[in-house]
Amino acid sequence: MAFDELYQEIIRDHYKHPRNKKPLAHLKAVENPSCGDSVKVQLDREGERVQSVYFDGSGCSISMCSASMMSELLTGKTVVEARRLVQEFLAVIRGELPPEKLEELGDVVALKGVVDLPVRVKCATLAWHAVEQALSREPVEEKK
Ligand code: ZN
Repeated sequence: MAFDELYQEIIRDHYKHPRNKKPLAHLKAVENPSCGDSVKVQLDREGERVQSVYFDGSGCSISMCSASMMSELLTGKTVVEARRLVQEFLAVIRGELPPEKLEELGDVVALKGVVDLPVRVKCATLAWHAVEQALSREPVEEKK
């Protein structure tokens, strides 16, 4: 049970002190109507690297802490690596990869319990779907 308490503590911490959260009024939100969660994600690239990930939104603690954890995990990664991590996370939550995979994803490991809570899956994956969209968008070519 000690692990569960640790995970709960991590979730609480991200919920109370969200990382990389700032107002993103100009962006369209990705929504999870079944819970009322709403998340916006802004991804800034520098070449092939994810320079920063910001999120904004409101919703339950799972959706908000998942967004915070995602932003922290992907910041500084290459676009290719970030895409792989997003796919890995979504596969674990869908039950296609063992939950142990999350142990390689920093604080995201605290969301392990969501695998056994089908009703919370949409909450946990909302921000990841939003960032997936942002990652698949082609970067604007810089004019030389
Ligand atoms: Zn939710």
